[in-house]
Amino acid sequence: MWWHAYRVRKSVQKREGQTLCKRCGLLYEKPLTECPHCSGVSDAELRMLLRQRKGFRMGLGRLMLVVAILIVLGLYLYNQG
Ligand SMILES: [Zn+2]
Repeated sequence: MWWHAYRVRKSVQKREGQTLCKRCGLLYEKPLTECPHCSGVSDAELRMLLRQRKGFRMGLGRLMLVVAILIVLGLYLYNQG
């Protein structure tokens, strides 16, 4: 699935004029000296946020897998008929 790998690589790439925060991994505008996403968040809260984000991403990945299986199954049944 080359298109999937391509999309992942593109989303990881740094966007123009934005900096990737080393603390929370989110992008923020370059003129800012500190990240607006996590500058006011404590370490414990940040960990919780990151865990939630990871869980969301994993859930999305599973959904994509189910959709892919359904598409393959649909094509298989279509070819049978
Ligand atoms: Zn941050």
